[in-house]
Amino acid sequence: METLFENILIYSIVFVFCLVVVILYLRRQKRNSNLVEEKILKAKQEGLYEPVSLHPVVDQNTCIQTGACISACPEKDILGIRNGKATTINASHCIGHGACFNACPTQAITLCIGTEKRGVDLPHVNYNFETNIPGIYIAGELGGMGLIKNAVEQGRQAVENIVKAGKKHHKAAYDLIVVGAGPAGISASLNAKKHNLNCLTLEQETLGGTVFNFPRSKIVMTSPMDLPLHGKLKLYETSKSELLDLWKSVIQKNNITIKENSKVETIVPEDGHFRVETLGGDGRQGSPRKLNIPGEELEKVAYRLLEPELISGKEVMVVGGGDSAIESALLLAPNNKVILSYRGEAFSRIKPQNKEKIDEAVEKGLVDMRLNTNLESIEQDEITLASGGEGGEKTRLKNDLVYIFAGGELPTQFLKKVGLQITKKFGEAVLKHR
Ligand SMILES: Cc1cc2nc3c(=O)[nH]c(=O)nc-3n(C[C@H](O)[C@H](O)[C@H](O)COP(=O)(O)OP(=O)(O)OC[C@H]3O[C@@H](n4cnc5c(N)ncnc54)[C@H](O)[C@@H]3O)c2cc1C
Repeated sequence: METLFENILIYSIVFVFCLVVVILYLRRQKRNSNLVEEKILKAKQEGLYEPVSLHPVVDQNTCIQTGACISACPEKDILGIRNGKATTINASHCIGHGACFNACPTQAITLCIGTEKRGVDLPHVNYNFETNIPGIYIAGELGGMGLIKNAVEQGRQAVENIVKAGKKHHKAAYDLIVVGAGPAGISASLNAKKHNLNCLTLEQETLGGTVFNFPRSKIVMTSPMDLPLHGKLKLYETSKSELLDLWKSVIQKNNITIKENSKVETIVPEDGHFRVETLGGDGRQGSPRKLNIPGEELEKVAYRLLEPELISGKEVMVVGGGDSAIESALLLAPNNKVILSYRGEAFSRIKPQNKEKIDEAVEKGLVDMRLNTNLESIEQDEITLASGGEGGEKTRLKNDLVYIFAGGELPTQFLKKVGLQITKKFGEAVLKHR
């Protein structure tokens, strides 16, 4: 009888202990799940939830919440566990490392491009990186594959294929013109030099491409890359300046000319070779996108802010939702009455410090932020702002100056002008387990 009682007691203690462990585990899981839910809500408010390009898609039936995808991802808060399954949080921050794809033990992750709602334009390229126009090749991010390593590899391979094709034209001033000096363009230029091609590289801004404009210093590379004329690069974690310095030194050592501030406007096939037209003078500005609204031709309308310190006591309208618009609004705010109008519901893909600064300025009443609005017309002393979509409420406001930052020409517009075939991808798999 005594042993039975002892046994019951022991089993009860073990049962209670296990129950406590399970309850604590479930409570922790619930807490973490709520945290992820809050992050998703914030991501939606800030426009970071919807992916812009490459992103992971989790098969909810196969995911067993090991969390391996989250630990493997070099970025932060792209993925999280909610209600026992992995889910995306700030999907627009995904740059396609593919580490989650490789880490998942149940192969529950597929890397996709675009979504059902938001398609991504991609040019047609064959396995040689050649487009529908023979002689024009596309490598790197523009072809849909993110990451420095991939861009470098594709730039190198594209030139290998150009060399193999062996087409040279006696009338052409150059064997090869590389458009853009990002990682793909740098690698292509180096490989062209290695193969003794007479090559010119034209860059509309500054050497380094997206890397030069990184809002952060840290760069992560999940595997080594092969840089022509330099060899294997094993930089797993480096800084933006270290990488830029390395590229500059390899370029200098090999006497390679990269013409910065030279925007290629179009490429025209001509007599068996190509005529490449660049924008003369200050190539950096490109062609600012216009709103095409009444009054846009007035002198008080500008597409860049040159000397903010000279502008004071004015009623200013800044249009746009990118870093340029926000930075301009912040520069003008202390001495002027600034309205910032953006057609979107939230800013997406802006530098985190700009997000913080603009929130602070709005809170202090320094900037009057009007989200979900469209500038409809501009007059000498007034403007008309419409809220919501078409047919929304219209407001007339006093105005002295208008700054429009609606972006430049999209790469797809440039590609279309050249005659390259483009297709919209709505969530197509780029990396998928068989
Ligand atoms: C915030 C952020 C962080 C990232 N972090 C990492 C990371 O840690 N590790 C990693 O591997 N990758 C990272 N990436 C991705 C990586 O930067 C890109 O995949 C890579 O830069 C692609 O290289 P690319 O040469 O194809 O294109 P880009 O770097 O975009 O270069 C294209 C170049 O072409 C120029 N150009 C375009 N049109 C014209 C024209 N008409 N005439 C002349 N020039 C033109 C542009 O000015 C640009 O310099 C990150 C991306 C972002 C946005």
